[in-house]
Amino acid sequence: MPPKRKSTISASTSKEAPATKKTKTTTSKASKPSSTHEMPLASRTPITSLARPMYIGAHISAAGGVQNSIPNAMHIGSNAFALFLKSQRKWTSPPLDPSARDAFHENMKAHSYSYDHILPHGSYLVNLAQADPTKAEQAYANFVDDLKRCESLGIKLYNFHPGYTGGAPRPEALSRIASQLNRAHAATSSVVTVIENMAGHGNVVGGSFADMATIISRVDDKSRVGVCIDTCHAFAAGYDLRTPSSFREVMDEFSSEVGLGYLRALHLNDSKAPLGAGRDVHANIGAGFLGLRAFHSVVNFAGFENLPMVLETPIDRTNPASGKTEEDKQVWADEIKLLEKLVGMDAESEEFKSLEEDLSSKGEKEREKFQDQVDRKKEKDARKAGGTGKKGTTGKQTKLAGMAAAAGESKEKKKAPAKKAAPPARKKAAPAPKAKKRGKRRRSDDDTSNEEDE
Ligand SMILES: [Zn+2]
Ligand SMILES: [Zn+2]
Repeated sequence: MPPKRKSTISASTSKEAPATKKTKTTTSKASKPSSTHEMPLASRTPITSLARPMYIGAHISAAGGVQNSIPNAMHIGSNAFALFLKSQRKWTSPPLDPSARDAFHENMKAHSYSYDHILPHGSYLVNLAQADPTKAEQAYANFVDDLKRCESLGIKLYNFHPGYTGGAPRPEALSRIASQLNRAHAATSSVVTVIENMAGHGNVVGGSFADMATIISRVDDKSRVGVCIDTCHAFAAGYDLRTPSSFREVMDEFSSEVGLGYLRALHLNDSKAPLGAGRDVHANIGAGFLGLRAFHSVVNFAGFENLPMVLETPIDRTNPASGKTEEDKQVWADEIKLLEKLVGMDAESEEFKSLEEDLSSKGEKEREKFQDQVDRKKEKDARKAGGTGKKGTTGKQTKLAGMAAAAGESKEKKKAPAKKAAPPARKKAAPAPKAKKRGKRRRSDDDTSNEEDE
């Protein structure tokens, strides 16, 4: 998920979009956010100049209206981008303003963006696995409203988090998600609902490729469903993308379990936490535990060509003059250029190695901090497990089943031995240490924040 951002569409449309401005602005004026008064931080790289057609961008702000997302994307040299279509943390938002919609189309045309490379991000409140009928209805209404916004904006993809089991048996939760999708597909005409993989902790759905596969298998119209791989979430859930060979293995696993044809988008984030830690903490590219080599594999993988690739890396920086923390969009502008530079680069070259080393050293302290947290947690859990005589998971479990079960589904396990039936088999053994007891993190259905990203 994107980094937390204060500006939300509804905040700006509801609070500062009163008629004063609208009466005098034409659509093209309305489309200019403040940032476009400045020189762009980077220009967009022509895709034809890259060795492979890789559309790299970031999750940018749409404050002031959806039409502003386009100049904001231009500002940092984004060839693809993500945005929120309305407030991501509120249940109600004003309807899409027709003038904003028109300005959006105008801007798309003026700047030659393709509707295929825009990936709106769904609300954090929506849980399509919700069992409570009233809450499920509220979630559905919010979800389908976003899909309708996509369709009036001509946007073809819609990325969302699959949700939480809420303690219910996993197969049931997966079925509920699929039926909500079926219903939403029937109520709309074309937009593809794109399921994002998650970091894999607690009751979260979507930590494993198997979860995705199961949901997709229960969706009637397969042309309306897809998957977005977030590199940080995948790594956090135990999928090792670090080396060219482990990257290849993960992609083979994805291909056999889900199918590469379902892959519609990527979120590009490094990870502050180590492999399989189940923690959703985004790091800047090359500074985390994934490292630059992983991203070299990503941007040179033929299966990712032409897909929107969206950065959600941290851009809060301390201004040395004021001492205040502010967003520095130059970070994204630079990361886009960095990733584009990796396309076709020889990973054995001195140029690559020195980039890799520089970026890695920048994240060293942060990695140590998170490694330490993970180690302590592990020790604590081990002590607890020893004390209560509770049994942890064993290496017998497959990678993610082990992680998912350990990650707080002990209740499920007791109630629902049936869950084993659902997902296709996974082959690999668990990266044992972290598989234990992450579940004790115990995050509630609505708790997606804390210090974690989303
Ligand atoms: Zn997300
Ligand atoms: Zn995340």
